[in-house]
Amino acid sequence: MNDTYDVIVVGGGGAGLACAVSAAEQGADVLLLEKQPRLGGSTGRAVGSFTASGTALQRRAGITDGPDDHQVDAGLFGPRGYEARNNAALRRYFFGRSSETLDWLSSMGLVFYGPSPEPPNRVPRMHNVVPNAKAYVATLQLRLLRLGGTVACDAPVEELVTESGRVAGVVARIDGRQRVLRARRGVVLAAGDYAGSAAMISKYRGTASPPSRGSTPTPPATATGSPSRSALASSTWTSRTVPSFASSRPGRAASSSSCRAAGRCSASWASRSRSSRARPCGG
Ligand SMILES: Cc1cc2nc3c(=O)[nH]c(=O)nc-3n(C[C@H](O)[C@H](O)[C@H](O)COP(=O)(O)OP(=O)(O)OC[C@H]3O[C@@H](n4cnc5c(N)ncnc54)[C@H](O)[C@@H]3O)c2cc1C
Repeated sequence: MNDTYDVIVVGGGGAGLACAVSAAEQGADVLLLEKQPRLGGSTGRAVGSFTASGTALQRRAGITDGPDDHQVDAGLFGPRGYEARNNAALRRYFFGRSSETLDWLSSMGLVFYGPSPEPPNRVPRMHNVVPNAKAYVATLQLRLLRLGGTVACDAPVEELVTESGRVAGVVARIDGRQRVLRARRGVVLAAGDYAGSAAMISKYRGTASPPSRGSTPTPPATATGSPSRSALASSTWTSRTVPSFASSRPGRAASSSSCRAAGRCSASWASRSRSSRARPCGG
């Protein structure tokens, strides 16, 4: 493992993996840090449904759809109080890219079934990856390694390194020791939601808030919004937050959420030519 990378991604769930792959596809030297012994996060426990509009599968089924209708329908899923606090611009951005994200994932070999009905969506928008969400992690991980990215598990990020008010890297605990890792272009926080933090649930969703599907604190319940709690948004049901890499300014920490997948990263580890001292993931 080197001391400096172009991009450092914190979190090896679907969002972090997708982000890391996207950055690597654009030529960045990428390090992905995952605090658990294996990749996946909540994504690894997900079903794998991908709600998207204007997709090729919809067109094939004779369905006319687009992100504007999708945006309206998405607001019907939660209580009104939530909708008022939602980030409409961000969600519209997601929906505007849901179709191309599905294409991007398909281009890596992932196969989707659907679209299936998912009321109150007005038309079928649910695309299910086959056989399940673990395919996201396995496929994205393999793609990242083939692109020369570096993956380290058992590597929790504990702090952000800031210089002159800008994020310049992270401090991660690797092999029991703190290590400073620097990022030339940016740090992306993709450390999941905060389902394991009652205080944050209370703060952002209210004490009477019911649990959501994206925030099930199944063991290990480590989703505490770390390392920068205030910077991390709750997970959404959308697709690829990855384009944020292209538009993020150097030195800024971007936070991303969503996507999903699961699995282990050990399979292709042995064949990698670089990062021989990074800790491999999985059994
Ligand atoms: C049972 C279940 C079914 C679901 N089904 C669906 C579905 O069908 N469709 C759908 O769209 N959504 C579904 N969801 C929601 C979906 O899984 C999440 O929204 C999505 O996985 C979030 O992805 P993520 O990458 O943001 O977070 P995660 O997948 O949780 O990844 C975050 C990663 O960051 C790591 N991490 C945390 N802190 C640190 C740190 N300090 N340093 C390094 N790494 C860190 C975590 O260990 C974790 O691996 C489901 C959720 C559950 C629980």
